[in-house]
Amino acid sequence: MSVLRFDNVSKQYDGGRQALDEVSFEVASGEMLFVTGHSGAGKSTLLKLIHLAERPTRGAVLFADRNLLRVRGRKVAMHRREVGVVFQDHRLLADRSVADNVALPLVLQGLRRAEIVKRVRAVLDRVSLGARSQALPSQLSAGEQQRVGIARAIVGEPALLVADEPTGNLDPTLSAEIMTLFESLPERGTSVLVASHDLALVKRMRKRVLVLNQGQLVDDISPEDLAE
Ligand code: ADP
Ligand code: ADP
Repeated sequence: MSVLRFDNVSKQYDGGRQALDEVSFEVASGEMLFVTGHSGAGKSTLLKLIHLAERPTRGAVLFADRNLLRVRGRKVAMHRREVGVVFQDHRLLADRSVADNVALPLVLQGLRRAEIVKRVRAVLDRVSLGARSQALPSQLSAGEQQRVGIARAIVGEPALLVADEPTGNLDPTLSAEIMTLFESLPERGTSVLVASHDLALVKRMRKRVLVLNQGQLVDDISPEDLAE
């Protein structure tokens, strides 16, 4: 079963360069992989096409065999429930507690309060922040803030998590913590696609790596090849 497929996807921004050029690849359900490349290679654009922050100029993006071209209007919000997104700057609401930040996607879905409380508590335990649920984001360390961002992205149990430079602001120890957390997701039904320009980090993980260069997918490296 594939959770994601790019079929000859190109993206040209208005007046801009070609950000993606005929990119094709497939992600199996339960897979964790990376996309890497220099700044400007197209990593963010690739992720944006998955959570519908952008649309391709040509080609098709399929999510769980659904062509995202046909996901419009109200269906966009429904699609986004199935794709968790983690940003480098985590984008937490500064005036809301950790628990309220994590609850937000479930509140928007209209879940019942008791159910929300239960699921928020469970996910905060998973990211080792159970004791900080009433803190404000500004009272947390950078690594803790990023873990809140991840908790918010996975609380709805998405089929796919996409993360754009999730460790960009973190030191190596905290980065490793975040990666361990990501690695635990596939066995719970969430595939993971991480964009990172940090080649050393990517290599250490020994996962499949897609390499973008000026919008072109120039390599698709299997974990076995990385081990050599
Ligand atoms: P990366 O995430 O690998 O740094 P991006 O996907 O952000 O790469 O950018 C790929 C290319 O597309 C770059 O040349 C960038 O300047 C351009 N680009 C990205 N976003 C936009 C935009 N909204 N409008 C115009 N050009 C853009
Ligand atoms: P990233 O490396 O995560 O892509 P950037 O600093 O490249 O972050 O981009 C930040 C924002 O600016 C993004 O929303 C991107 O789409 C937009 N952007 C990037 N390049 C351009 C560009 N050449 N013209 C207009 N917007 C751009």
